[in-house]
Amino acid sequence: MPVLVMKFGGTSVATLDRIRRAAKRVGVEVAKGYDVIVIVSAMSGETNKLVGFVNETSPLFDAREYDAVVSSGENVTAGLMALTLQEMDIPARSWQGWQVPVRTTSAHSAARIEEIPNDNINAKFAEGMRVAVVAGFQGISPEGRITTLGRGGSDTTAVAFAAAFNAERCDIYTDVDGVYTTDPRVSAKARKLDKIAFEEMLELASLGAKVLQTRSVELAMRYNVKLRVLSSFGEQSDDAGTLVCDEEEIMENRPVSGIAFSREEAKMTLVSVADRPGIAAAIFGPLSDAGVNVDMIIQNIAEAGRTDMTFSCPNDQVLRAEKALSEAKERGEINYKELIADKDVAKISAVGIGMRSQSGVAAKMFKTLSAEGINIKVIATSEIKISVLIDRKYMELAVQALHDAFELEKD
Ligand code: ADP
Ligand code: ASP
Ligand code: MG
Repeated sequence: MPVLVMKFGGTSVATLDRIRRAAKRVGVEVAKGYDVIVIVSAMSGETNKLVGFVNETSPLFDAREYDAVVSSGENVTAGLMALTLQEMDIPARSWQGWQVPVRTTSAHSAARIEEIPNDNINAKFAEGMRVAVVAGFQGISPEGRITTLGRGGSDTTAVAFAAAFNAERCDIYTDVDGVYTTDPRVSAKARKLDKIAFEEMLELASLGAKVLQTRSVELAMRYNVKLRVLSSFGEQSDDAGTLVCDEEEIMENRPVSGIAFSREEAKMTLVSVADRPGIAAAIFGPLSDAGVNVDMIIQNIAEAGRTDMTFSCPNDQVLRAEKALSEAKERGEINYKELIADKDVAKISAVGIGMRSQSGVAAKMFKTLSAEGINIKVIATSEIKISVLIDRKYMELAVQALHDAFELEKD
């Protein structure tokens, strides 16, 4: 029988009633003749609560234990979803990541899926089971420890299962009815897109649009998974939501397709480091070893052989970054006068494949922000995106101004 993957995010399984509503949707697909793999997130708020417990217990935690704790939310919903389906007389059972097994790297808290053998679940399908409910977000390392895939990782679990089982489609059910030109919670003018190109979705996701985890888009692109984002609350229909697809399938040709933002950024400045060959490696090597995701980097002009180095990273990695750099300093690998952490910044990005062929996007972006009196602290560009770091208090204003400037509300 054809296989369908259906993923339900936190708000879609937030209560027993919501789980029942999600299960009904699964029932509709089972009735159509699909064998369904359901991937579930933890009930909304649950993972945050667990992360909070870990941080309170141990601020520079052992990531293996972090994973042991934060993966547990999904175990609850997987079991409850299987029970709910059984109550509806649909043959179903739950799997935790290690039982499948979802084999991952040992990069705890940010592990990558390496392999999902499908024999276990397929054997059950062959015996008449119709729904395999799998706890999203988790896997098992080569060392036999529980891993997690990074926040929002259930999306990636879903796409990886769709690839491993050659599913007809991977439907991501969430609390909005598709991918919008920007977060509809920030701009009332945000417009739902019927289709979005993989590459644009990849940039939007990696720049903060958490509707899909970046890695899930990467996998869908690589394995040609038909990926759809839709609401678990609205009417059920076959053409609902947003289809993430190849660029060729999209007719629009705008310079900018969407505005993404990331609220929790930090700007770190190393004051007065030696301007010598190898300094960047000496700084960013230890940061990478400590698991710090450095994004934008600027090195200022050197004066008397010394320079300032500025970089951005997620706010919750500042502690790790400070520790890694002060240890490198103690070891004599780098020398700096001061490390300044500005934790009140946000990153705003304009994304669009049309940028490849249309010029003037950066100029328009800078002009729009300047007209609002917003100061730009750092700029980074790539072929299809422009990102700026600004004071966090201006984030909503900047998103709305840019959404207006690029006329994204217009169809
Ligand atoms: P889930 O728990 O279902 O995985 P998430 O909270 O991870 O849901 O992702 C859905 C949220 O993503 C929406 O509620 C919305 O606020 C946010 N979001 C950010 N950018 C966008 C966008 N461009 N389009 C749609 N939703 C977006
Ligand atoms: N529950 C996890 C999180 O909140 C994974 C997910 O929902 O995708 O990040
Ligand atoms: Mg999510």
